[in-house]
Amino acid sequence: MSKKRREIPVFDHPIIETHCHLDYLKDRPLEETLEQTQGVNIEKVITIAVSPDNLARVRELSQVAPWVYGTQGIHPHDAESYSDDVEAEIRAHARDEKIVAVGEIGLDYFYDNADRDVQREVFRRQLQIACDTDRPVVIHSREADEDTIAILGEFEDTLKRRGVIHSFTSGPGLARYALDQGWCLGFNGITTFNKAENVRDIVRMAPIEQILLETDSPFLTPVPYRGKENAPFYLPFVAEKIAEVKELPLEEVIGKTYQNSLRTFFPGE
Ligand SMILES: [Zn+2]
Repeated sequence: MSKKRREIPVFDHPIIETHCHLDYLKDRPLEETLEQTQGVNIEKVITIAVSPDNLARVRELSQVAPWVYGTQGIHPHDAESYSDDVEAEIRAHARDEKIVAVGEIGLDYFYDNADRDVQREVFRRQLQIACDTDRPVVIHSREADEDTIAILGEFEDTLKRRGVIHSFTSGPGLARYALDQGWCLGFNGITTFNKAENVRDIVRMAPIEQILLETDSPFLTPVPYRGKENAPFYLPFVAEKIAEVKELPLEEVIGKTYQNSLRTFFPGE
């Protein structure tokens, strides 16, 4: 039995997918994913690097279409594979034409896939790359609110462009700090999950001028497509949910988050 799911809404105003992992999508050929993504008026897509394995792959992906962009960085899960060579590679490509940020980098004390001291060191070293190359940062922080605040605090004066704390699931303390410091918070399909009232509380607290839309696909598929592999073209459901939670007109959410994405990653536009 399959129940009919609501079609993906298509908005008049374009939207920007600020965080996905195109190289992890398996359900359909990349070409089809990109076609469907354009079909729902997504104007730009940022595909995110996570490991030494996929730095080059993300650079390749950033060349598949003029509207696909990439990042360079090592996820906290892979912090133990960070090395001088990896750092040199990130530095060498952080300012490539289609590379818009350093990320995703940060701390994950939920999975603890890497030693926490190593995670902190690798996080600092990559924040320094962002400072030196004048790039914004895409941050992953899970159950590490205190250390994330402490480490970002060390870079308050030097990290000029800030960036986003993506897939925000942390507490109000980190949210408050980040918002006061001019960071954006990224929200995805989690906002549509029944149990995520804590995340919706943060959505309510964040000014719409500091919210970015993302899918984090292939993970975290929004309602009503849970159970399917996530993809950038489900992003409109996230926009709708943010509007509902913040009790704002949908057009305002779409317009503001679009501007926020440009300001963060495409300051020339
Ligand atoms: Zn991600």
